[in-house]
Amino acid sequence: MTTHKTRMLIIGSGPAGLSAAIYGARAGMEPIVVQGLQPGGQLTITTDVENYPGFADVVQGPWLMEQMQKQAEHVGTRMMWDTITEVDLANGSPFVAKGDSGDEYVGDVLVIATGAAAKWLGVPGEQELGGKGVSACATCDGFFYRGKKVAVIGGGNTAVEEALYLTNHSPDVTVIHRRDSFRAEKILQDRLFANERVNVLWNKAVERFMPAENGTLGHLELVDTVTGEKSTLEVDGAFVAIGHAPSTELFAGKLEMDASGYLKVEPGTPKTAIPGVFACGDVMDHTYRQAVTAAGTGCMAALDAERFLAEKDFAEKEAVAAE
Ligand code: FAD
Ligand code: NAP
Repeated sequence: MTTHKTRMLIIGSGPAGLSAAIYGARAGMEPIVVQGLQPGGQLTITTDVENYPGFADVVQGPWLMEQMQKQAEHVGTRMMWDTITEVDLANGSPFVAKGDSGDEYVGDVLVIATGAAAKWLGVPGEQELGGKGVSACATCDGFFYRGKKVAVIGGGNTAVEEALYLTNHSPDVTVIHRRDSFRAEKILQDRLFANERVNVLWNKAVERFMPAENGTLGHLELVDTVTGEKSTLEVDGAFVAIGHAPSTELFAGKLEMDASGYLKVEPGTPKTAIPGVFACGDVMDHTYRQAVTAAGTGCMAALDAERFLAEKDFAEKEAVAAE
């Protein structure tokens, strides 16, 4: 077991964690970023990113995150291949976190940037057929359905983007949405409706994922959310794209959360109720959940961390001088 000490410990390596690291490193806090199971975060499972400022042409999500990581390392960030399994916030700064590797991380400030993870429907067959036709990532698994029939469940930006992406592989993409309108941005909806490979089933919910004889996904059992009428849809692949839940299990009972599990912060700041603990990105943002807002709040966390440490150092010097 190794103990890694730093002025600034960051959990998470998405746009929020890496932006905090870039600012933290430039401020001399020698940050450590513990990357978790998804180095680079959610953008690594998408393709085109066309709304992150600074790029006139469309960039690819994994490439963008690779650049952010290199930038963070270039200015002095240490990246750790580890996942935090436990945090101790009870005694204030310094904060101790334990990694899956058995290593321990000690930070004078803690920046939580654990983001969000895909939600599942929680209906029969979904878990059993995971990896056998049921997926939550079209860019990861879409390739396996070349020339086959697929469905996407959801009505937000992710669902529409996933459906559009899948048309690169599949001639027959059905979007299943529980209401009669999408919440996705208009520009994405326009592209979807213009694509001849896509068909939309409105007011339908998936009740069950059913296997074919060979044990992989065979069809979906659907219910009409208005009339209650039942139907089935034969598909080879189904992509669940119904949003994301914040990754906050680590902090249960330790930090305040809202009803949906997002970390609560002082409004307009990344400050949690514990001095020296900051939260940034999707883990504390129920509303915007964009790469640029995650990066922005990551920057804010680093600036507030720097102020916290300056005040702490000053108070400690004063205390020593008074002895
Ligand atoms: P995340 O990107 O979720 O990163 C969280 C990080 O925390 C990961 O590195 C993970 O490994 C780490 N982590 C979690 N738990 C632990 C732990 N216990 N220990 C250590 N590390 C941990 N936004 C846009 O602006 N433009 C887009 O085009 C766009 N496209 C998207 C496409 C898809 C398919 C999805 C799912 C999202 C998209 N978004 C887009 C939203 C954007 O990806 C998120 O808003 C952004 O990634 C949030 O950044 P984050 O740093 O807060 O968290
Ligand atoms: P989202 O905006 O929360 O949308 C989730 C969709 O899934 C909604 O249409 C919702 O239906 C549906 N849904 C939720 N629970 C369901 C259930 N149990 N059964 C059936 N349907 C269900 O999530 P998202 O699309 O993943 O987007 C998350 C965030 O990332 C957003 O802020 C989004 O803007 C951002 N994002 C941005 C881009 C981009 O900028 N290009 C791309 C992807 C994601 P209702 O509509 O009925 O609620």
